[in-house]
Amino acid sequence: MKIAMCATEVVPFAKTGGLADVAGALPLALEKLGEEVIVIMPYYRTVKNMKQVKIEKLKEDVFYSVIGKGVKVYFLDNPGYFDRDNLYSEKTGDYPDNLDRFSYYSRRALNLLKEIKFKADILHCHDWQSALVPVYLKARYSRDPFYKDMKTVFTIHNIGYQGLFKQEEFPKLDLNWELFNMEALEYYGKINVLKGGLVFSDVINTVSSTYSREIQTKEFGFGLEGVLNKRRDSVFGIINGLDYDIWNPAKDRFIAKTFNAKSIADKAKNKEDLQKLSKLPLKKDVPLFGIVSRLAQQKGFDIIAEGIDEICRMKVQMVILGTGDQKYHDILEQMVRKYPKVISLHMKFDDALAHKIYAGSDIFLMPSHYEPCGLGQMISLRYGTIPLVFKTGGLADTVTGKNGFVFDQYNKEDLISTIKKAVSAYKDAAKWGRLIAAGMACNFSWDASGKEYIALYKKAKAK
Ligand code: ADP
Repeated sequence: MKIAMCATEVVPFAKTGGLADVAGALPLALEKLGEEVIVIMPYYRTVKNMKQVKIEKLKEDVFYSVIGKGVKVYFLDNPGYFDRDNLYSEKTGDYPDNLDRFSYYSRRALNLLKEIKFKADILHCHDWQSALVPVYLKARYSRDPFYKDMKTVFTIHNIGYQGLFKQEEFPKLDLNWELFNMEALEYYGKINVLKGGLVFSDVINTVSSTYSREIQTKEFGFGLEGVLNKRRDSVFGIINGLDYDIWNPAKDRFIAKTFNAKSIADKAKNKEDLQKLSKLPLKKDVPLFGIVSRLAQQKGFDIIAEGIDEICRMKVQMVILGTGDQKYHDILEQMVRKYPKVISLHMKFDDALAHKIYAGSDIFLMPSHYEPCGLGQMISLRYGTIPLVFKTGGLADTVTGKNGFVFDQYNKEDLISTIKKAVSAYKDAAKWGRLIAAGMACNFSWDASGKEYIALYKKAKAK
């Protein structure tokens, strides 16, 4: 199959979130599985300034680079739109011309396909920034034989970001006003770009199967649950893969001692290292909880904050790495002053320390209130660190009673009682060993998810 990935951020060129990881890794997995893939993204300033990759000029406004063996990544150049400090926003908020920028990107991407004669079977689009691709394809391009048979797959990475714009901006899209209605791009008097993607694409998916069901409910749908519900037969979920080259305890250059499932005893050296650098007592028999996260309500910090005093009074240790909301910074700092031998706080973004926490902790705490996919729990499983999660989204799909601890009522009491359960299980070495073994045996590689995407593309082709 010929697949064109339309994504506005792609690792290693530009990244603000998980979408970039997927858009960078999935094409490589698909290439390994024998598919023909190209990627199309804007030529941002960060890409222009990259020294370590080779970028070549294709034509006046198109450049390209190669990832993997032969996946071409095309960069669409428009200095007025993309030669800026950031991708989507500045300090004062979103760039005011985002609708111009990403409608331009979507049309230019479609035109490029014909110019390079890439007659794609599938256009795989991601999030609101490329959601106009399926809209333009159906509304403007499908009469052209070159585009007629192309199908679209649309992936939602976080339904909270929808690309909402004022009605007055609609003429910029150069689409018939008929499309400004409730069944298409209108949402309560505004333009909702994401909604356009959901209505016009052939197949919709999101980054875990549970999240694909959750976004069809009022609690998690951010107002688009009705639209998704109407299309429920075309909504699917595929868990993101993990980059096993980066997250591998047997080869990790950041950690004190590498280990694998067979040499799990060496994990203890990483615990000791983590305790040392976190200035916690060097105790082997006290369970060490790790957190690597944005300090945000979405990640469960409201119930953590409510319960933290009680948790610190248990026989545990806790290392937290993260930045985020000031109110959680304040609460956690207060706890560090109160319980300096129990809790250690690192308020920064630090990749090396993140690796050390995944490797050195016994339990990984990730009680997110909602979680489209989540990486932290998958990384910790790989490092023999038992995840403790709230049953939602990708957490529900990857963590079970066999490899971790799961609670299903989102409140402080259930969080605390599950932590107590984990602390007591930790005392039973044989049981703990079984949990570790089950976690380390899980496979969240891109190979597995790549195969699922191919099956999804086939479904789209059959539409
Ligand atoms: P989200 O993308 O919603 O923040 P994920 O669990 O999908 O959450 O991914 C978060 C990723 O960012 C993980 O790989 C995690 O290790 C990393 N991360 C989060 N905060 C930090 C931090 N302060 N320092 C280093 N890595 C971090």
